[in-house]
Amino acid sequence: MNIGFHISTAGGFKNVIPRAQERQCTTIQVFSRNPRRWEYKELDQKDIETFKKLRAHAHIDPVFIHMPYIVNLGSLSKDLYARSIDSLRVELERSDQLNAQYVIVHAGSSDDTNAGITRMMRGIDQALNAVRNKVVILIENTSGSGREFGFEFAHLGTIVRGCTHRRVGIVLDTAHAFAAGYGLDTRDGINSMVDEIEHVLGMHHVHLIHFNDSKTACGSRSDRHEHVGKGRIGNGMKYMLNHPLLRPKPFIMETPRMNINDDLKNLKTVQRYMKMHKA
Ligand SMILES: [Zn+2]
Ligand SMILES: [Zn+2]
Repeated sequence: MNIGFHISTAGGFKNVIPRAQERQCTTIQVFSRNPRRWEYKELDQKDIETFKKLRAHAHIDPVFIHMPYIVNLGSLSKDLYARSIDSLRVELERSDQLNAQYVIVHAGSSDDTNAGITRMMRGIDQALNAVRNKVVILIENTSGSGREFGFEFAHLGTIVRGCTHRRVGIVLDTAHAFAAGYGLDTRDGINSMVDEIEHVLGMHHVHLIHFNDSKTACGSRSDRHEHVGKGRIGNGMKYMLNHPLLRPKPFIMETPRMNINDDLKNLKTVQRYMKMHKA
């Protein structure tokens, strides 16, 4: 299986691969810049060369870059919308420099869901028109808090199909889907979500699973991640990991972390789920 964590870039990209190896990652996600600010620094050439050199021997593939949280590609504000598209364009370039294959962006928010969805697909097309490389944009499902769209897979299906470019897919975040109302704590709930994705989008468009348990209840529309198997999804995490249509995908945990021990505990849980399946 292809399993990893969101890895900190504190101190530079040179620190990413050692941190990933301590956690036995075979895939990783990083921020390429501060996720809560618009300002950013150019990537340091020496630093990213070290990252790439270390990665070549570490068998970590693919690499996902998560966009800053402040972007909103569904925004009805002209200024925020333009800034968000520009940010996405920059992120596509930075990902290419880092040899990362994917950029992840959350579905946006808007008072008018349909207008937001239309703006998001146009915005993605604009960014992809401007940057002709191989990096693929992945749209992440939301918990549907506030005015967020993308809490139903049909929304994501509309965006993916509506883009003129083919470099677009989705990320399935299990905590977000559960908070949005998908009953992932049971096998039936999991199967019906997978059927729905297959119907409105096609599972081949799912390029990554954010494998997070949820502190909040199903349908709460509140996004709070929990350790694998310790939250309200509980045993559902085990069923999802071993689901024939989910298991072949990369799994990345964005679970709570005080220090590395939290990650190692979650890794152990995942490894236990895999063994139980084999037995
Ligand atoms: Zn996520
Ligand atoms: Zn989340």
